Amino acid sequence: MDAFLRTWEEFVNIATIGNEFDRIVLSKVKPQYRNGKFIITTKDEFTKTWIEKNYLDRISSTFKYYDVDVELVVENDSKEEKTENRSTVTKKENKRILKNRENEKVEGNVVVLEKEEEEKEHNLINPKYTFESFVVGPSNDFAYHSALNVSRYPGKNYNPLFIYGGVGLGKTHLLHAIANNVTKEMKLKKVIYVTSEQFTNEFFKALNSKTIQSFRIKYREADVLLIDDVQFFKSTMKQAIEELFHTFNKLIHDKKQMVFTSDRTPRELDEIGDRMISRFEGGLVVEIKKPELETRLKILEMKLKNEKIEIKEEYKQFIANSIISNVRSLEAAVNRISAFINLKKGTLNITTLKTLLKDLIETDTKEHVEVAYTIDEIIKSVAKYYDTTYDKIIGSDRKEDLMLARQITMYLAKKLTNLSFSQIAEKFGKVHSTAMRAYERIDSLIKRDFLVKEQIKEIISILKLMKNR
Ligand code: ADP
Ligand code: MG
Repeated sequence: MDAFLRTWEEFVNIATIGNEFDRIVLSKVKPQYRNGKFIITTKDEFTKTWIEKNYLDRISSTFKYYDVDVELVVENDSKEEKTENRSTVTKKENKRILKNRENEKVEGNVVVLEKEEEEKEHNLINPKYTFESFVVGPSNDFAYHSALNVSRYPGKNYNPLFIYGGVGLGKTHLLHAIANNVTKEMKLKKVIYVTSEQFTNEFFKALNSKTIQSFRIKYREADVLLIDDVQFFKSTMKQAIEELFHTFNKLIHDKKQMVFTSDRTPRELDEIGDRMISRFEGGLVVEIKKPELETRLKILEMKLKNEKIEIKEEYKQFIANSIISNVRSLEAAVNRISAFINLKKGTLNITTLKTLLKDLIETDTKEHVEVAYTIDEIIKSVAKYYDTTYDKIIGSDRKEDLMLARQITMYLAKKLTNLSFSQIAEKFGKVHSTAMRAYERIDSLIKRDFLVKEQIKEIISILKLMKNR
């Protein structure tokens, strides 16, 4: 069933964010839904054990929603041979192969000098990520129109274009949309899409195998260069950053378009170095924000329509009101509903919907992003909760509970306001990396520490009370 395959794809996408190696390994397995089971076939025992160790728990709990067990098998395992449904599976596999071929065709427009399997995969452009399939709303229209403009007049108006914003808000979608447009409509040949990790890996590989010259030709002769997720460039990758710098200069000089994406502003990319930062800032920097309710509804409706499923208006409202900060999660919701409906496990009502979407529905921590809170209000409610003062929270007293309170304040400020890390840090007389680290620390604490999570909920209640007074 296709819905399960999509659930699988969705799982791989979400579970491997920022981890290209894992993504490649997981995309190489053969997933199938058969006889009430989701069977993952790997090429070898090593991969099987690796998945068992690193991912099986999470995969199983993903499929638990549908009462579907997950099984890992190695190719040519006896189990695999014995299946009765072999012929249908083969058909499906054929379809899969055909689909991959289609992708290859698109990829034919993309320059690939090194014909290694892995490199080819890197340059795949998803034909579904187009401007037409991108829902525009106030949160993303600036980014959308800049990207569209760049795809129509590459190298002319905004160079580079730098798009930043949180996870799952459409950055990669827009990069692919540009690639699709410039290859199809402008007929440009040398369009390169890579993540910064791929760029770095490829660079070091070329360095080691003494093929750096062809690496340089490939990148420096590009018509359009699209680099996704530049926040992954680390200060330890000096040589790769140096290479990027020279590539950048050459392409700017030749008026070739470049587009970069990142989860933060150029200024906040401290690992990449000032030279690159000022170059990123030299073009147009645009932010993609979290979609507003109306945009979320539109996205949801589009995805439901694509799946050819209809649900009650009130369920749409419920979903759009409870999945707030990430379009990827909205898609995940649609996939689950689609699987649920197709499996005919029962009727869809608000209770089943809640169970089905349990881990996607955002808890109190994020639920009221819509209400605009100010950082001052957040500081006041944290101070109230900890029975201390506003000045102590923003001060520099290093007592343990004050430090935690301060970090929670920074975390909430990032979650509940539109302030950047730099602006938040400024309030505390700190540099932006302090706010960023505080955010990351609390974000991971919430997942592990029940008490911290409860504290935050409590603080948010205080915040709401203060706001409503
Ligand atoms: P990012 O790169 O910012 O993490 P992606 O581009 O991967 O996010 O988007 C996550 C998913 O959400 C993709 O499947 C994408 O097609 C979808 N998506 C994001 N924004 C929109 C939008 N405005 N309209 C339609 N789909 C969207
Ligand atoms: Mg992305």
